[in-house]
Amino acid sequence: AVPVLAIDGPSASGKGTVAARVARALGWHYLDSGSLYRLTALAGLRAGLALDDEPALAAIAAALPASFEDGRVWLDGTDVTDEIRSEACSAGASRVAALPAVRAALLDRQRDYRAAPGLVAEGRDMGSVVFPDAPLKVFLTATAEARASRRHKQLMEKGMAANMESLLDDLRERDARDAARSVAPLRRLPDAVLLDTTDMDVEQAVSFVLERAPV
Ligand code: C5P
Repeated sequence: AVPVLAIDGPSASGKGTVAARVARALGWHYLDSGSLYRLTALAGLRAGLALDDEPALAAIAAALPASFEDGRVWLDGTDVTDEIRSEACSAGASRVAALPAVRAALLDRQRDYRAAPGLVAEGRDMGSVVFPDAPLKVFLTATAEARASRRHKQLMEKGMAANMESLLDDLRERDARDAARSVAPLRRLPDAVLLDTTDMDVEQAVSFVLERAPV
C-alpha cells in the first residue's frame, strides 16, 4: 500500500506548517483535511443553509466543487484561500465537522489523496478514521498557552488586532468541542507518536517527523 504519514492534533498546534514541510521534503502528496470542513462551511453559508442542516450539508460536502493548486484553495472557480481562514469559517467548520453525515461524505475524497509515492495527511482523525493503517501516526500538540501565543504573533505580524486572553479562551473552547463530540473526537491514539512542540521550533518538529518517516 502507498505509505501515509498521519499527523493529528489540536488547532493552532503548527501541524499544518509541519505537515506541509514534511510533504515537500519527502516529495509526497499533502492533504489538509481541515480545509475540506472549512470549504463545506463556506459553501453552506453561501447557499444560505443553517450549519446544523445535516442532510443538505452532507450533499454539499459530497459534491464540493473544490480544487487545490500551489497552496491556493478554490471553490467554484473563486480563490477562497483567505476566506476559509476567517473566524466565520473557522467556527462554521468546527460545527459542520460534528455532523456524522458530513464526515461520511468527505471520507472517500480524503482517501483519494493516497497516491504514490506517499501522502502526508493532517487533521484530527487521519490516524483514527481516515487512514487507520498509516505506518506512522503522529500526535502533534503544544500547550494552549504556546498555541495562543503563536497565533498572537501571527496576527500581530499581519497587523491585525489580537488579545492573548481571548485567543486562549477561543482555543480552549475549540479544544473542548473537538474532544467532546461524539464522532471522531480528537484524542491521542495509543499507536501515535507524541510530538509536543511547546519548546520546539518548526525546524526541530519537521526533523522529528522526518527521522521517523516510513521511507
Ligand atoms: O485544522 P483546521 O483548524 O483547519 O480544521 C478546521 C475544523 O475542522 C476544526 O475545528 C475541526 O473540528 C475540523 N476537522 C475535523 N477533522 C479533521 C480536520 C478538521 O473535524 N480531520
